[in-house]
Amino acid sequence: MTSSQKQAIHVIGGGLAGSEAAWQIAQRGVPVVLHEMRPGQQTDAHHTGDFAELVCSNSLRSDDHEKNAVGLLHEEMRRLGSLIIRSADANQVPAGGALAVDRDGFAVAITKSLTEHPLIKVEREEVGRPPDDWNNVIVATGPLTSQALADTIRGLTDEASLAFFDAIAPIVHRDSIDMSKAWFQSRYDKAGPGGSGADYINCPMDRTQYEAFVAALIAGEKTTFKDWEASTPYFDGCLPIEIMAERGAETLRHGPMKPFGLTNPHNPQKSYAVVQLRQDNKLGTLFNMVGFQTKLKHGEQTRIFRTIPGLENAEFARLGGLHRNTFLNSPKLLDGTLRLKAMPRLRFAGQITGCEGYVESAATGLMTGRFASAEWLGEEPNVPPATTAHGALIAYITGDHVEMVDSGRASYQPMNINFGLLPPITDFSTHGADGKKLRGPDKANVKKMALCARALNDLDRWLSAQAHPVAAE
Ligand SMILES: Cc1cc2nc3c(=O)[nH]c(=O)nc-3n(C[C@H](O)[C@H](O)[C@H](O)COP(=O)(O)OP(=O)(O)OC[C@H]3O[C@@H](n4cnc5c(N)ncnc54)[C@H](O)[C@@H]3O)c2cc1C
Repeated sequence: MTSSQKQAIHVIGGGLAGSEAAWQIAQRGVPVVLHEMRPGQQTDAHHTGDFAELVCSNSLRSDDHEKNAVGLLHEEMRRLGSLIIRSADANQVPAGGALAVDRDGFAVAITKSLTEHPLIKVEREEVGRPPDDWNNVIVATGPLTSQALADTIRGLTDEASLAFFDAIAPIVHRDSIDMSKAWFQSRYDKAGPGGSGADYINCPMDRTQYEAFVAALIAGEKTTFKDWEASTPYFDGCLPIEIMAERGAETLRHGPMKPFGLTNPHNPQKSYAVVQLRQDNKLGTLFNMVGFQTKLKHGEQTRIFRTIPGLENAEFARLGGLHRNTFLNSPKLLDGTLRLKAMPRLRFAGQITGCEGYVESAATGLMTGRFASAEWLGEEPNVPPATTAHGALIAYITGDHVEMVDSGRASYQPMNINFGLLPPITDFSTHGADGKKLRGPDKANVKKMALCARALNDLDRWLSAQAHPVAAE
């Protein structure tokens, strides 16, 4: 079959991910049909018919590509010919170090670029089930995927593999935990399958600390649900920590904070309560706070959780939350280039894969656009190295998360890009210009700069080895 006879690639959903995916495909000379149900059918959060409408904040967060993980992702996207970042740069509004945009100008520019592209055909329709003869499809329908398509996806996976709400517990960078107060141990030293008997990080509390902590959880300011989220169910075994605290002073001590089977090597006195953190990624750089899903406001989480002994200086890779959100248990369901293992003609991109945020959604769209067009062109889809922000994000989505099943629910939860997803780096200067050993924030900054420099070098090397290095204008 010649290229001109080959079927177009179908992208379902013209949000952040789908718009970027369609652009990447077309820029490689491959025809694409972009299916978007708006404006005929809106989601609960969108209001226009524009592509890449920002449903809430107008900020794409930090643009610092030398010391910030999302800034690094921006810069990688620029080098990969991203339409989303190009349009953000062109519609920027003053916002300090952040890349914030005039939301209408941004969405209108993207809509214009896509609708005017000779290889992109736009279909304004809901796709409830991708027809059998679409053989290369990207599903980028986001956290508010229409019911008909969600039902189809659930039919292709299983009940537990497509979540309609997230229940996010905070994640802490391992190297910010004070191990002179915390310690490694599994409850009753149980090794379990694949464990060592010392798999959890434990943070002890005495009675006074515990009571003050419970009171702070109850008094802490909470976020409220939007009207259309009001029916968010609280799953058994997955209640917000503050709701458990409200049920009685002892509830947490007999739930996620139980002290039993744990011995504090730093203090012979028995702990009254213990907060446990469990490894979250294969690199061992991130640990999640077990059972700490919460609707406390972000500022309150940081303030209250830093009163936990051992977490006084905790750096959070992700804070907790609970939202309506349609997403797959991707590490189980998707292969290395984001194809559904059960039906490889379908690829997934954006928030539905379990990444979190505008930029991360667009970045996964960019990657799936490259993968799908490579396949169309008869090339091997190629993932950037895990040392790059793109590679690290894809690795987390497709397998680096350490799966645990609590109360029958998968533990995989939405994740922003953060430095904890990148392989650790040891090759950076540990001394300042004055010859003194770097400590605290100075050391952390030098390390972040080394991670960013390594990522951009590795991305450039990877790009120059590709058959189609940069998406041409
Ligand atoms: C209320 C809310 C607020 C958020 N606020 C922020 C924020 O401030 N900052 C941030 O970084 N992230 C935020 N997010 C998270 C996330 O980054 C955004 O939802 C982001 O838009 C996700 O990109 P996406 O491309 O995956 O999905 P979307 O941008 O939502 O795009 C999906 C598109 O698919 C279309 N669609 C759905 N089903 C079908 C179908 N069956 N057929 C055809 N089209 C379909 C939708 O109309 C939509 O245009 C928010 C999410 C929500 C729900």
